[in-house]
Amino acid sequence: MGSKGDFHLHSTASDGVHTPAWVMETAAARGVRVLSLTDHDTTAGLAEAATAAKRLGLRLIPGMELSTDYQGADVHLLAYGFDPSNAELQAKLEWLRSGRLRRTEQIVAILGRLGAPIRIERVYEIAGEATVGRPHVARALVEAGHVASVQEAFDRFLHNGGPADVDRVKFGPRETIELVHAVGGVVFCAHPVFIGERYPEVLAQFAVWGLDGIETYYKHYDAETVEAHRALGERLGLMRSGGSDYHGLGNPDDREIGDFGFANERVDEFVAYLEHKGVNTGDWRTA
Ligand SMILES: [Zn+2]
Ligand SMILES: [Zn+2]
Repeated sequence: MGSKGDFHLHSTASDGVHTPAWVMETAAARGVRVLSLTDHDTTAGLAEAATAAKRLGLRLIPGMELSTDYQGADVHLLAYGFDPSNAELQAKLEWLRSGRLRRTEQIVAILGRLGAPIRIERVYEIAGEATVGRPHVARALVEAGHVASVQEAFDRFLHNGGPADVDRVKFGPRETIELVHAVGGVVFCAHPVFIGERYPEVLAQFAVWGLDGIETYYKHYDAETVEAHRALGERLGLMRSGGSDYHGLGNPDDREIGDFGFANERVDEFVAYLEHKGVNTGDWRTA
């Protein structure tokens, strides 16, 4: 039975353009049968996604992408199959999000001192239901006429190390892995190449801390990169996952949902791994 899977998708619950229901409908129309919605630091989109997935006959596995700090690098971890209703988990996520609110207030205050005042209320309005972040500040800067584009807002003010950059509140990778395991899930490292050249040694350390797998298939990876990840995973005893990291932004290296070489036996192998681990793989599986 041929089937596509996509285990790295974003919606309006974080920084994606489309609603969770739209993401599910589009995935189904593109032949995806099993998937995860993995918004940043929130499970807010999962209920809407689950309702749509059930209607569409999709198997939705609970997911989330967590930002962690490892020796100054921003490392993203994907959590799958956890219990989204767990109170301890939600308290931690709430703490992360309140940190984001404090950070946004600090950024807005700095922008005022730099001669580019914007209203914090407007930033929250632009963010809507989403977890507030720099893209929303950038859009407020464009609206206020301080910059011509979101790109210019990042180039002039908001880029990492820029004049209006403020450090985020983050978990470390080890405590993130332990937290997700404690609430019944597994943890995969997202797009490891973004860590930089030392990613193999970083993943070796994470494996010691209990990392379960590596995002081996990713939107713009070529065959050589996939093979390097596969071989590393094999050496470290880690499972393989795959995702498009779809945000709906229309960037040049974007791939459509389900369109990055993760299908059939690769999907079956990943899902069988989750089942073997006994994690929450959804009550809405298709017959
Ligand atoms: Zn990421
Ligand atoms: Zn992502």
